[in-house]
Amino acid sequence: MRELTYVARHTVEWRETPDPKLQSGQDAIVAPVAATPCDVDSAILAGHGFVEPPFPIGHECVAQVVDVGDAVTGVTPGDLVVVPWSISCGACEHCRAGLTAHCTSVPHMAMYGAPIGGSWGGLFSDLVHVPWADAMLVPLPPGLDPIAMASASDNWSLSWRMVAPHLKARPGARVLVVARGSIGLYVCDIARALGARDVLYVDPDGEHRKIAEGFGARTAEAIEPIHHGFDVAVEATGRVDQLSLALKSLAPEGFCESAGNHFRPGELPLLDMYLTGVNLRVARDNVRSHIPDALALAGSGLVTPERVVSHVIDWEDLPDALPERRLKPVFVRDRS
Ligand SMILES: [Zn+2]
Ligand SMILES: [Zn+2]
Repeated sequence: MRELTYVARHTVEWRETPDPKLQSGQDAIVAPVAATPCDVDSAILAGHGFVEPPFPIGHECVAQVVDVGDAVTGVTPGDLVVVPWSISCGACEHCRAGLTAHCTSVPHMAMYGAPIGGSWGGLFSDLVHVPWADAMLVPLPPGLDPIAMASASDNWSLSWRMVAPHLKARPGARVLVVARGSIGLYVCDIARALGARDVLYVDPDGEHRKIAEGFGARTAEAIEPIHHGFDVAVEATGRVDQLSLALKSLAPEGFCESAGNHFRPGELPLLDMYLTGVNLRVARDNVRSHIPDALALAGSGLVTPERVVSHVIDWEDLPDALPERRLKPVFVRDRS
């Protein structure tokens, strides 16, 4: 089979590798049918990642189950499933506590699409080995479009987690979104759907702002800090100066959620944060825990994540098309 492999800045290519095989009764083999780059893949493709190529890239997809081990009961061949970006067993102490990005049955940071906790391949591969299939895979609910939900592996479900619990705790909260890609737009969609009374989306990209406006957000190209302006701030830029801006715009005891991936150093306004009283979370997302909630919202009719999908492109065009800068292209393959 072929693995789409990141080989150099702005360059990916197919590389042949043996087909993955079931290694235990709990495994599955799946074939991605709709896969999309995570926002961080754009940074990796632009040469800003911290792992040297070559490695198989991609960690967001809806896949079709091809084969399952004898002990697997949750999915059967032919099912459409969301494949979480990180590898988790579902049974260790961390997994049982919901900390699925910190599973202790695998090396720390084990994930698809980057060889930082072992080699698990990427989700732009023709076939993918999934350990602990019952713990990891989430069947795609009927009626949900695999193209719109390709991002449920990571960015869509992460976006749900960054804003939905806060709006539940503080109905009508004011939300600031400082972003550059799909995550910030998903957050706008979810925040407005769940009753945020004000959403301000900040992004220099005019096309992105237009989509955010379609979700009912106010938008700006750039802002100065808005003192005590927002109950919740979401930062998804990978830039420390933008994280600072979000932090300086929080109301007392407000909550800042950061999508992280600040590959370059910078300084946070710690005294300002102390004086205002802010909560900051910068964390790799324990996505498996809330994929079902994020899918349920997607199926509720309150949100339209398909509006973030910028291009639908044939699987065979991956090597040429993936390195091009696009908001959220989804690469699709025929199901047989
Ligand atoms: Zn990601
Ligand atoms: Zn575990």
